[in-house]
Amino acid sequence: QHDIERIKSLLGTHEDFPKKGIVFKDMFPVFQDPTAVEALISNIVHHINSTQAEKIDVVVGLDARGFLFGPLVALRLGAAFVPVRKQGKLPGECASAVYEKEYGQDVFEIQKSAVKPGARVIVIDDLIATGGSAAAAGELVKKCQATTVEYVFIMELDFLKGAEKLDAPVYSLIHL
Ligand code: IMP
Repeated sequence: QHDIERIKSLLGTHEDFPKKGIVFKDMFPVFQDPTAVEALISNIVHHINSTQAEKIDVVVGLDARGFLFGPLVALRLGAAFVPVRKQGKLPGECASAVYEKEYGQDVFEIQKSAVKPGARVIVIDDLIATGGSAAAAGELVKKCQATTVEYVFIMELDFLKGAEKLDAPVYSLIHL
């Protein structure tokens, strides 16, 4: 609990970024403090190890901040790390899923050969707002015939109820 309060105190808050009316939560200041990163990763890994009876095969991280701490969690779990990226960035055969953004749509992709059928997957990102991007990542996992066993975030904007869009339990360190 003390660790979570410390991580929370390090988060940046920026009004009117990236545009007017939006309050942007910034996780990068946490990464300036290696002991805070250690606490962050340990908390997530401890949560997964104490709730998942079976081994996690893959951590799927979302473009782009999910790439920064997803691999740290994967390494500790002895799991693979697989990125989900915006359309057109990944080579080879990809599965794709459309999701709603504030204005219009975007497309996420995953390399099909990276997630084997039957794999147990954790989907990870810095923040869940409406849940649209995490839901699209969940769809990609399904297209690989694998199972998302949990969605993990550093921050969750509770009032947007994004967790309700997802097909597995959600764990967020910090609720805003
Ligand atoms: P959603 O699809 O509406 O849940 O939005 C979540 C996505 O937008 C994630 O990939 C986040 O990184 C990003 N995002 C939305 N709001 C913020 C914020 O305040 N800080 C950092 N990322 C955000």
